[in-house]
Amino acid sequence: GGHLLDVRDLYVEFRTGEGVARVINGVSYHLDPGETLAVLGESGSGKSVTAQAIMGILDTPPAVIRSGQIRYQGRDLLALSEEQRRQVRGKEIAMIFQDALSALNPVFPVGWQIGETLRHRAGMSRADARRRVIELMDLVKIPAAAKRLGDYPHQFSGGMRQRVMIAMALAMEPKVLIADEPTTALDVTVQAQIMDLLADLRRDLNMAMILITHDLGVVAGVADRIAVMYAGRIVEHADVRALYRAPAHPYTKGLLESIPRMDVRGQELATIKGLPPNLMRIPSGCPFHPRCPYVQQVCVDVVPHDLVLGDGRTSACHFAQEVRDDSAH
Ligand code: SF4
Ligand code: MG
Repeated sequence: GGHLLDVRDLYVEFRTGEGVARVINGVSYHLDPGETLAVLGESGSGKSVTAQAIMGILDTPPAVIRSGQIRYQGRDLLALSEEQRRQVRGKEIAMIFQDALSALNPVFPVGWQIGETLRHRAGMSRADARRRVIELMDLVKIPAAAKRLGDYPHQFSGGMRQRVMIAMALAMEPKVLIADEPTTALDVTVQAQIMDLLADLRRDLNMAMILITHDLGVVAGVADRIAVMYAGRIVEHADVRALYRAPAHPYTKGLLESIPRMDVRGQELATIKGLPPNLMRIPSGCPFHPRCPYVQQVCVDVVPHDLVLGDGRTSACHFAQEVRDDSAH
């Protein structure tokens, strides 16, 4: 297939003193130009590690990529040299993180930091870089950009710092933006503003976006498709509307039922019982079986493979069809 980005059957493990943690266990997903894929999961589900593998910024060791491919415009990024990887990073695929404060250097003005890539990688003069930095700050809606070039990161609010980081990520006009929990550290109202900004930028710049989040609530208005991760696997992959209408994996169903709804008063929110598995001792069969309300003996014995449902979605559950029908009413 000619996807823009195509992650195929990726396996990553962390080799530590205490043993081997199987962090990514056969993840495949793809991204086409201009679309937004949300990757959803609890912390430790492998969503960030997959993104770090795409960016080529995994800590190796302890992380080891055991097998798989990450194809970008047809080329396997895992087969490139570090020098070739650097050409892709930032220029083709850029990433923003949850914690803008620690991603920015406290001792340099933000304008200088946004301009650094332009001066060094794009070879712009100081004057051209300065003009472009102001454009980028306008683009991410930082008010009075020209007056704020010389300000330091601590002089910006959390939301404005996140905008600075987005401006830095956009400097080289990447075709793919990976946003890893971009709003998790922010207040709810600021979260919504940053999500709106990302959605607008994705559309206006015709980028593709991977939005990594643990919060199903932020996904609805932004993403085209969702890949739900659990224990280093994608357990459900579907069009956003189909997934909201009727999840076909018990884990997704549990996540949806734990979102507060504005239109229901006095509701009792469900929570998914239990904890995510220890990745050094992933449960037998279906890794979700110790927490699953639908569990049967077959789930303990047999690893479920992706079931392709009629509407093109997949669910790695032995009872995907039943769960979806059960969710639909
Ligand atoms: Fe639950 Fe079994 Fe489906 Fe796993 S395979 S999610 S344990 S019903
Ligand atoms: Mg993470």
